[in-house]
Amino acid sequence: KSKRGGRGTFRYYDPEFELELTQTKKLHDELQLAIDSEQFELFFQPIIDTQTNRVIKAEALIRWNHPSKGLVGPGEFIEAAEKNSMILTIGRWVLNEAFKQCINWQNEPHMREVGVAINLSPHQFHDEELLKNVTKAISRSGLEERYITLEITETTLMEVGSVVVDRLNALAELGLDLAIDDFGTGYSSLAYLKRFPVSTLKVDRSFISDIETDDDDKVITNAIINLGNSLNKRVIAEGIETATQLTTVNEFGCHLIQGYLFAKPMPLKDFSIWVHKYHQHKD
Ligand code: C2E
Ligand code: MG
Ligand code: MG
Ligand code: MG
Repeated sequence: KSKRGGRGTFRYYDPEFELELTQTKKLHDELQLAIDSEQFELFFQPIIDTQTNRVIKAEALIRWNHPSKGLVGPGEFIEAAEKNSMILTIGRWVLNEAFKQCINWQNEPHMREVGVAINLSPHQFHDEELLKNVTKAISRSGLEERYITLEITETTLMEVGSVVVDRLNALAELGLDLAIDDFGTGYSSLAYLKRFPVSTLKVDRSFISDIETDDDDKVITNAIINLGNSLNKRVIAEGIETATQLTTVNEFGCHLIQGYLFAKPMPLKDFSIWVHKYHQHKD
């Protein structure tokens, strides 16, 4: 990253800065083209209730079928899209696409009760048009609100106090389920947690991954689960990869699970087949 000249500093020609600008512009155009030529795809990862053995919902995770690079994950473009505002266009696409798929699931007996969770970026969350976009996508798809979860990271929520609460209230009033993503990685003000109309906490994967070896992570995970349960929130453990991690969070009182132990994010077709097999096996 190039250092920009601040106030009172002399700004000279900086080739690195030029390069950065060109690349930002290039990525912007590339992302626009990707939208226009349908290069984006949603993958779905099941979230399972291990007490009932049902898939309760799927998290929609974006992928980019890049014409030359192949399948590109969100880690490589979401942050850049966030900076050049393309995230707003992408975000609208994600909403519409996710709702469309979810309503289709209701025609399949084994998928009838599967909801969908969508990630909202900070930019999207603070966008004036968010409410309108969500409402539009809902009416366009015909999907009932109770099937929809919006995931917002803890860091996004901690940005500006009362504006955030108002925005969350407006979304909650629509009847959507709101979840705090990556919980535990921001400055979780417990007082805020009480004020936020969120119904779900997602324990960040970073605590889960070392739960077997790191006592601090174990204690923190246990504390987050207890906190969520005491506040009557639903708690989801994300990034469960091993049977030991599963038993540990189950013993702590968390039964909603997402992670590679069950399944990786999958293309639409595979997801439907996976759920069918899983439910059949468990019946
Ligand atoms: P996230 O919302 O926390 O999503 C969970 C990430 O953890 C996903 O990575 C998922 O594939 C991964 N994961 C799930 N279970 C496991 C596991 O057991 N082990 C490991 N190692 N990883 C696991 P992914 O798909 O690469 O997405 C990364 C992040 O990109 C997401 O984190 C989310 O913040 C963002 N993202 C994804 N799709 C969208 C989108 O449509 N819009 C926006 N704004 N952000 C998105
Ligand atoms: Mg998420
Ligand atoms: Mg997460
Ligand atoms: Mg994450």
